Amino acid sequence: MDSLGLDKAVFELSEAISPKIECTDCGNCCKSLMVNIDEEEANNLSAHLGQTRAQFDENYLDKGESGRMVVNAIPCHFLVGNSCSVYEHRFAGCKEFPAFHIPDFNKRLFTTYMHYDRCPIIFNVLETLKIDTGFKQPNI
Ligand code: SF4
Ligand code: SF4
Repeated sequence: MDSLGLDKAVFELSEAISPKIECTDCGNCCKSLMVNIDEEEANNLSAHLGQTRAQFDENYLDKGESGRMVVNAIPCHFLVGNSCSVYEHRFAGCKEFPAFHIPDFNKRLFTTYMHYDRCPIIFNVLETLKIDTGFKQPNI
Protein backbone atom coordinates (compact mmCIF):
# COMPACT_ATOMS: atom_id res chain seq x y z
CA MET A 1 0.00 0.00 0.00
CA ASP A 2 1.44 3.40 -0.93
CA SER A 3 1.33 6.52 1.21
CA LEU A 4 -1.83 7.93 -0.37
CA GLY A 5 -3.59 4.59 -0.02
CA LEU A 6 -2.58 4.40 3.63
CA ASP A 7 -3.86 7.93 4.29
CA LYS A 8 -7.18 6.99 2.68
CA ALA A 9 -7.41 3.75 4.66
CA VAL A 10 -6.80 5.32 8.07
CA PHE A 11 -9.12 8.23 7.27
CA GLU A 12 -11.95 5.89 6.30
CA LEU A 13 -11.39 3.69 9.34
CA SER A 14 -11.41 6.74 11.58
CA GLU A 15 -14.64 7.99 10.00
CA ALA A 16 -16.24 4.59 10.63
CA ILE A 17 -14.90 4.05 14.15
CA SER A 18 -15.00 7.54 15.72
CA PRO A 19 -18.82 7.80 15.82
CA LYS A 20 -18.92 4.55 17.81
CA ILE A 21 -16.66 5.94 20.54
CA GLU A 22 -17.93 8.56 22.95
CA CYS A 23 -15.12 10.99 23.76
CA THR A 24 -17.07 12.22 26.79
CA ASP A 25 -16.78 8.70 28.24
CA CYS A 26 -13.02 8.95 27.89
CA GLY A 27 -11.29 12.34 27.98
CA ASN A 28 -7.90 10.62 28.10
CA CYS A 29 -6.21 13.05 25.69
CA CYS A 30 -7.24 16.04 27.81
CA LYS A 31 -6.19 14.19 30.98
CA SER A 32 -2.74 13.20 29.86
CA LEU A 33 -1.32 15.29 27.00
CA MET A 34 0.56 18.58 26.95
CA VAL A 35 -1.32 21.17 24.88
CA ASN A 36 0.50 23.72 22.72
CA ILE A 37 -1.08 27.14 22.22
CA ASP A 38 -0.30 30.02 19.89
CA GLU A 39 -0.85 33.74 20.46
CA GLU A 40 -4.11 33.93 18.54
CA GLU A 41 -5.58 31.01 20.48
CA ALA A 42 -4.53 32.54 23.79
CA ASN A 43 -6.08 35.88 22.77
CA ASN A 44 -9.33 34.21 21.75
CA LEU A 45 -9.72 32.15 24.89
CA SER A 46 -8.68 34.91 27.28
CA ALA A 47 -11.28 37.21 25.69
CA HIS A 48 -13.92 34.46 25.98
CA LEU A 49 -13.06 34.00 29.66
CA GLY A 50 -13.08 37.77 30.29
CA GLN A 51 -9.46 37.78 31.41
CA THR A 52 -6.62 40.01 30.31
CA ARG A 53 -3.81 38.21 28.51
CA ALA A 54 -1.60 38.83 31.53
CA GLN A 55 -4.12 37.14 33.83
CA PHE A 56 -4.72 34.33 31.38
CA ASP A 57 -1.01 33.68 30.91
CA GLU A 58 -0.41 33.71 34.67
CA ASN A 59 -3.29 31.35 35.32
CA TYR A 60 -2.93 28.84 32.53
CA LEU A 61 0.32 28.99 30.56
CA ASP A 62 3.94 28.01 30.74
CA LYS A 63 6.28 29.73 28.31
CA GLY A 64 9.56 28.43 27.01
CA GLU A 65 12.51 30.58 26.01
CA SER A 66 11.76 29.88 22.36
CA GLY A 67 8.32 31.46 22.82
CA ARG A 68 6.56 28.11 22.85
CA MET A 69 3.46 28.20 25.06
CA VAL A 70 1.76 25.21 26.69
CA VAL A 71 -1.12 24.77 29.11
CA ASN A 72 0.53 24.59 32.53
CA ALA A 73 -1.52 21.71 33.92
CA ILE A 74 -2.15 18.07 33.07
CA PRO A 75 -5.05 17.23 33.10
CA CYS A 76 -5.97 20.39 31.22
CA HIS A 77 -7.48 23.24 33.29
CA PHE A 78 -10.49 23.35 31.01
CA LEU A 79 -11.54 19.73 31.38
CA VAL A 80 -14.68 19.37 33.50
CA GLY A 81 -15.61 15.76 34.07
CA ASN A 82 -14.72 14.29 30.70
CA SER A 83 -15.86 17.34 28.73
CA CYS A 84 -14.12 20.47 27.50
CA SER A 85 -15.59 23.55 29.20
CA VAL A 86 -14.30 25.80 26.41
CA TYR A 87 -15.14 23.50 23.52
CA GLU A 88 -15.90 26.24 20.99
CA HIS A 89 -12.58 27.91 21.83
CA ARG A 90 -10.41 24.82 22.21
CA PHE A 91 -7.01 24.82 20.60
CA ALA A 92 -5.93 23.58 17.17
CA GLY A 93 -4.10 20.62 18.71
CA CYS A 94 -7.28 19.58 20.51
CA LYS A 95 -9.31 19.72 17.29
CA GLU A 96 -6.67 17.84 15.37
CA PHE A 97 -6.27 14.83 17.68
CA PRO A 98 -6.11 11.92 16.78
CA ALA A 99 -5.18 13.36 13.38
CA PHE A 100 -6.20 10.57 11.02
CA HIS A 101 -7.43 13.22 8.55
CA ILE A 102 -3.93 14.66 8.11
CA PRO A 103 -1.79 13.47 5.15
CA ASP A 104 1.42 11.45 5.49
CA PHE A 105 0.23 9.07 8.17
CA ASN A 106 3.24 6.86 7.39
CA LYS A 107 5.50 9.59 8.82
CA ARG A 108 3.47 9.73 12.04
CA LEU A 109 3.27 6.03 12.77
CA PHE A 110 5.57 6.23 15.79
CA THR A 111 3.79 9.20 17.36
CA THR A 112 0.42 7.61 16.68
CA TYR A 113 1.52 4.43 18.47
CA MET A 114 2.57 6.56 21.43
CA HIS A 115 -1.17 7.15 21.95
CA TYR A 116 -2.14 3.54 21.33
CA ASP A 117 -3.06 2.82 24.97
CA ARG A 118 -4.51 6.29 25.52
CA CYS A 119 -7.06 6.73 22.77
CA PRO A 120 -9.69 4.10 21.95
CA ILE A 121 -10.10 5.61 18.47
CA ILE A 122 -6.42 5.14 17.71
CA PHE A 123 -6.40 1.65 19.21
CA ASN A 124 -9.33 0.49 17.11
CA VAL A 125 -8.16 2.15 13.89
CA LEU A 126 -4.72 0.56 14.16
CA GLU A 127 -6.05 -2.86 15.16
CA THR A 128 -8.49 -2.84 12.23
CA LEU A 129 -5.79 -1.56 9.88
CA LYS A 130 -3.55 -4.49 10.81
CA ILE A 131 -6.29 -6.94 9.84
CA ASP A 132 -7.29 -5.04 6.67
CA THR A 133 -3.70 -4.97 5.43
CA GLY A 134 -3.10 -8.65 6.25
CA PHE A 135 -0.47 -7.74 8.82
CA LYS A 136 -2.53 -9.49 11.51
CA GLN A 137 -4.76 -12.50 10.99
CA PRO A 138 -8.18 -12.04 12.66
CA ASN A 139 -8.01 -15.43 14.40
CA ILE A 140 -4.54 -14.99 15.94
S1 SF4 B 1 -8.81 22.84 25.89
FE1 SF4 B 1 -10.53 21.42 26.04
S2 SF4 B 1 -10.20 19.91 24.39
FE2 SF4 B 1 -8.24 20.98 24.72
S3 SF4 B 1 -7.09 19.70 26.19
FE3 SF4 B 1 -8.21 21.27 27.37
S4 SF4 B 1 -10.14 20.27 27.95
FE4 SF4 B 1 -9.24 19.07 26.26
S1 SF4 C 1 -8.31 9.93 23.86
FE1 SF4 C 1 -9.36 9.58 21.88
S2 SF4 C 1 -11.37 8.66 22.44
FE2 SF4 C 1 -10.48 9.60 24.28
S3 SF4 C 1 -11.37 11.66 24.35
FE3 SF4 C 1 -9.40 11.84 23.29
S4 SF4 C 1 -9.89 11.62 21.08
FE4 SF4 C 1 -11.68 10.89 22.25
